[in-house]
Amino acid sequence: MTQAQPRPPAPFTSDEYAARMRRALADATQAGLDGLIVMPGPELVWLTGYRPTAITERLTALVLVPDREPTLLVPVLERPDAEAAAGAPGLTMVDWADGEDPCARAGALVHPGATMGISDSAWAMHLLGLQEAVPGSSYRSLTHSLPMLRAVKDERELARLAAAGAAADATYEQILRVRFAGRKETDVAADLARLLLEHGHEQVDFTVVGSGPNGANPHHEAGDRTIEVGDAVVLDFGGLMDGYGSDTSRTVCVGDPSARLREVHEVVRQAQQAGFEAVRPGVACQEVDRAARKVITDAGYGERFIHRTGHGIGTTTHEPPYMIEGEEQPLVPGMCFSVEPGIYLPGELGVRIEDIVTVAEAGGQRLNNTARELRVVE
Ligand code: ZN
Ligand code: ZN
Repeated sequence: MTQAQPRPPAPFTSDEYAARMRRALADATQAGLDGLIVMPGPELVWLTGYRPTAITERLTALVLVPDREPTLLVPVLERPDAEAAAGAPGLTMVDWADGEDPCARAGALVHPGATMGISDSAWAMHLLGLQEAVPGSSYRSLTHSLPMLRAVKDERELARLAAAGAAADATYEQILRVRFAGRKETDVAADLARLLLEHGHEQVDFTVVGSGPNGANPHHEAGDRTIEVGDAVVLDFGGLMDGYGSDTSRTVCVGDPSARLREVHEVVRQAQQAGFEAVRPGVACQEVDRAARKVITDAGYGERFIHRTGHGIGTTTHEPPYMIEGEEQPLVPGMCFSVEPGIYLPGELGVRIEDIVTVAEAGGQRLNNTARELRVVE
């Protein structure tokens, strides 16, 4: 069967990457940092379009400091790959060969005594090497220093996130038509993965199928349990499409739902709706959590909602901003995150409903639009 594949979006241009690097450096300066050291991972992809094929002990580092052009230090054997990245025209490329000390080479780009932001994914051996190479230098977590660096998406990023959401929605519509009863969770998980790929994802990150009591464990992925008639089944799946993430959850019932499942599902559905309706520019992230949590607490299940309400999504499927008590960051148009309350009854069942929501001037907009009512599968 051939699926209607959406046309791939136009790639980001070197000008767009250059603008992101300028903004990152300006934000870093604003945060009291003397520059940034960005290692392979989501930030490097976002800033340069460069995704090394293998992340190894050989040092690759983007160094952003005010008095120098953005400089990418790469192993000499990976230089051709780096030069092929879309953001390469805006970079000064410096290579190093096996036998050289790459931390000394990177350190030469950093001022003695500097306080640098560094990727959370940096290897300890590289960080220790930098500390040794640059006297008096100190380092701070890039995510903690600049949590909102990638949080506000531009139009072209939002279009990718919307397309990834639509592909996840199409996957859900099709999974409703597969057989659940008598098959293992891992079989349904394999169906989800195949459908995500058929609908244009290049990467599947998770395919949760939590049937019956397994649904009560939010970290359960999929196991050998055979799905039975009467089970509630939590489905939570997503990955990357054109570099941007999808993540949606629905809970279905195999055959007729019990009164208990109907009740719990309706509470979660109303909580998800309340969280969604709380989304407006200027509202603190924690208000989204509070709105969803209040519905569940008022229904008597507050103790059974055991995680935050949501997380940001972009070039990764979990990133700031987080919808959690204590997060006072105001929502800004262009932010994108999940609203995913759940209720977990140990030994019995779980229910979670999750949509990706973006902040528009007028309020929240869902990037997942399948029905949130309890659906019955076979
Ligand atoms: Zn999810
Ligand atoms: Zn999620």
